[in-house]
Amino acid sequence: MEYKHNKIEKKWQKIWRKKRIYQPDLENAEKPFYNLMMFPYPSAKGLHVGNMYAFTGSDIYGRFKRMQGYDVFEPIGLDGFGIHSENYALKINKHPLKLAKKTEKYFYSQLQATGNGYAWENTLETYDPDYYKWTQWLFIQMFKNGLAYRQKSAVNWCPSCKTVLADEQVISGKCERCGTEVVVKELEQWFFRITKYAERLLNNLDKINWSEKVKIAQRNWIGRSEGVNIEYEVVGQKEKIVCFTTRPETNFGATFVVLSPFHPLVLKITKDNYKKQVVEYIEGVKKRKVSPEETAENKEKTGVFTGSYCLNKLNGKKMPIWVSDFVLDNVGTGAVVGVPAHDKRDFEFAQKFNLEVIRVVVSEDGDDSAITSIDKVYEGHGKIINSGFLNGLNSREAKEKITEFLEEREWGKREVIYKLRDWCISRQRYWGPPIPMIKCPKCGWVPVPEEELPVKLPYLKDYRPIGTGESPLDKAKKWLEVNCPVCGSQARRETDVSDTFLDSSWYFLRYPSIKFKDKPFDKRITKKWLPVNMYIGGAEHSVLHLMYARFITMVLFDLGYIDFEEPFTNFYAHGLIISQGAKMSKNKGNVVIPDEYIKKYGADALRMYLMFLGPFDQGGDFNPTGIIGIKRFLNRVFRLSLNLKVNLHQQTTKNLERALHRTIKKVTEDIENKKYNTAIACLIEFANLWEKEAGISVEDGKKFIKLLAPFAPHLSEEIWEILGGEFSIHQQPWPEYDPALVKQTEFTIIIQINGKLRDKLIVSQDVSEEEVKNMALNRPKVKKWLENKEIKKVVFVPNKLINFVV
Ligand SMILES: [Zn+2]
Ligand SMILES: [Zn+2]
Repeated sequence: MEYKHNKIEKKWQKIWRKKRIYQPDLENAEKPFYNLMMFPYPSAKGLHVGNMYAFTGSDIYGRFKRMQGYDVFEPIGLDGFGIHSENYALKINKHPLKLAKKTEKYFYSQLQATGNGYAWENTLETYDPDYYKWTQWLFIQMFKNGLAYRQKSAVNWCPSCKTVLADEQVISGKCERCGTEVVVKELEQWFFRITKYAERLLNNLDKINWSEKVKIAQRNWIGRSEGVNIEYEVVGQKEKIVCFTTRPETNFGATFVVLSPFHPLVLKITKDNYKKQVVEYIEGVKKRKVSPEETAENKEKTGVFTGSYCLNKLNGKKMPIWVSDFVLDNVGTGAVVGVPAHDKRDFEFAQKFNLEVIRVVVSEDGDDSAITSIDKVYEGHGKIINSGFLNGLNSREAKEKITEFLEEREWGKREVIYKLRDWCISRQRYWGPPIPMIKCPKCGWVPVPEEELPVKLPYLKDYRPIGTGESPLDKAKKWLEVNCPVCGSQARRETDVSDTFLDSSWYFLRYPSIKFKDKPFDKRITKKWLPVNMYIGGAEHSVLHLMYARFITMVLFDLGYIDFEEPFTNFYAHGLIISQGAKMSKNKGNVVIPDEYIKKYGADALRMYLMFLGPFDQGGDFNPTGIIGIKRFLNRVFRLSLNLKVNLHQQTTKNLERALHRTIKKVTEDIENKKYNTAIACLIEFANLWEKEAGISVEDGKKFIKLLAPFAPHLSEEIWEILGGEFSIHQQPWPEYDPALVKQTEFTIIIQINGKLRDKLIVSQDVSEEEVKNMALNRPKVKKWLENKEIKKVVFVPNKLINFVV
C-alpha cells in the first residue's frame, strides 16, 4: 500500500506553518541553537537538487537538535544582488528588480515544498532596502574606523563582464564567471583593510571547530611566511635593494637579484648603456596586460640586465641585478634574491640567462652533486655546505643562526609577510547597494549621514555597464547630485555599488533581529543566539564568504557591537551532488530540478534518497531510479505502522527490542556526526527485521518513527498522528537507548590448535571456559586435529579464543 505523499506533505506543511512549530521564541528561548545553512544565491531557475542536498543535510541536523530539547532557529533568506543576477537579467532582457521578485517567489515556494523546518517569519533578501540599509551602515562604520580606503591601483578587469574582479575571482588568468582573459586596468576603488586582520584570522582558526580542509584553504589564502628582509648595497651607488626571503640560510648560494619592472629603483640603478633595453622591456610588460597571477606562474621567463650589481656581504660576491616580470611589485618588496640551486623559478631564470648556480644544501638522501637541470633543484631541507660559518648545520638551525647574524650587523631584519590582499569593495555595476559616500570638492569623501540611510538604488531603465570603468549609476543625474552633508556645497554621490560578498558577510546577524527596524541587530537577541552553533555549506566558499564573514565579525567585535569574534563555532563542509558523472551546470544541461521528483515520489523520498547517496561530506551522483528504492522503504514503514494500529496489544520480541536499541544508538551517533547515509542504512535494516519478526509494541514502533522524523518529516508526522501521538512529532524528545540492550550478546570464539586457526564457534556472552572447551572438543574439525594427541595446555581468552597446545 502506498501513502499519498502529495496530500500528506501539503497537509503537514500547512499545519506546521500555522502552528509555528519551527518559530522559536527568539526573546525567551531557554536553549537556543542557531542552525544555519549557507546563504543561497538562487538563479532564476530556482533550486536544484544540489542546493536541496545541502539544505536537507542541515535541516536533518536542526530537527535532531530540536528533538534533543534545543530551541532551534533555522532561518532562510536569499542573496540576490550581484553580477550573476544582473547578467542573467541582461541576457533575458528583463529588469533585475522584476526578475528578483519572480525568483524570490519561486525559490521560496520550492523551499516550502522540501519540508524544511524554516523560521519563515525571519526571511531576508539582500536587495530589500530594509536589509541593505544596514549593509551601507556597515560600510560607513568601516570608513569611520579607518578600515575603508580609496586607492588607485591596477585591478583585474573582465572586458566581457565589464567589471573589476577580486584576485580570487581570477582563475589562472581568466574571469571566474565567464572565462574571458582578464586584463589589468588602473582604477580608483574602495578597499577594506582585511590585511590588518591577517594574523588574527590565522590564529583564530585554531579555536574553531571547522572542517579541516576549509581551515587549510584559509591558511593558504592568508599565506603567512616568516623570513628576513635582506638589504643589499648596489655596488658603486648609494642605493640599497631590499629582498624578502624565507630561506636566508641559502644566501651563500645567491647569485643574482631581480627587480619587478615597477620597482621604484629600476631606472635609478640602471647603467646608461643599458637604459634603452630596460625601458623597452618595461614598456613591453605594460602593453602585455596579463593578470599578475599569470605573469608569475605560467609565463616563459623574460628579463633584462641593468648593468649594475648588488654586493652579497656574506661572501663578497657581486650579484648582477636584472629586471623581470616574474617578480610581482605587490608581493614582498618587489625584489627577489635569486638562489637558483634551491628554487625552481630562480633556476629557470638562471638557466635562461646563464647565471651561476651554487649548491648550498645537501638533500636528505645525501645528494650533494652539482645542480645541472631543473629536476635536480632541491627545495627541501638538509645539511648546509659552501656557506662559511653555516657549514655542517642543518638548514633549520642555520636559518636561526644566519638571521641573528644578519640582524646583529643590521644587514637584515626579521619580517612576516602575507599573501592576503585588501578586499576590493567597488563594483562598477548596477545591481548592488550604492556605496553610501559623497564626494565634496571641499571636504573630500564624506559618508552619507546614517539617518539618511538607505541610499536607495535608483530605478534605471537602462542599467547596462558602460564599459569605461564608470558605473551605470553615472547616468542617474538627479540622484547623484547632492549637497555635502558637512559644508552644504554641491557634491556628488559615489556611483559604484558594493561587492556581493559584503551583503553576505553579515546576514547571520540580521536573521534573529529582523523585526528591529532601527538597528542592524539587537544586542540582547544577538547575545542569545550567536555565534552560530552549526553552519553547513559548501567547501567552495572556504576563502571568499567564510573569510569575509570572519573579518567583518572581528571588526564588529572590536567596535564593541558584539561580544564574540568568530561568527561560526562549527562549520561543516558538505559534498557536491553531481549528475551524469559531472558537476551540474546549465552549459552541460545536467541540472536536476527537484520539483518533478517531489511531485512523483514526495519530498520525504527525495530527501532520504539524496542523503543515502553517500557520506554527506562527499556528495554523490544523482540517479533518478535510485529514489524508487527509498520510496518503497517508506511505503513499507507506512504499512507496518498501520498494522501496528490493529495489533495494539502486541509485545516487542526480544530480538527486535535489542535491534531497536542498537538502531537508536547508531542513528543518534550518526546524525551527530552527519553520517546520514549510514543512519538511513540502519533504519532500513531495522524495518526489514520488523517486517520479518512482526512483533513490536506501539510504544517501540513510535520510537522508531521518531528516528525517522528528521529524514522524512511529513510521513513520520502522519504516522505519529495515526498512532495517537501528541502533535508534533518534531517537538517530541529524541528516544534514548538502554545501554544494557545494545551490548553485544554473541561472540565468535576462535579455536586454535598450537596457535593455528582451525575452527570458529559462536557463543553467548560470558560462557565459562569449561563450556567452551567442551563445545570446541565436540566439533568434528577439532576432533580430527586432536586425534591421538595429548592436550598439554589450554589457553582461554573470554569472548575471543581458545587454544589447545598438544
Ligand atoms: Zn567575465
Ligand atoms: Zn563639503
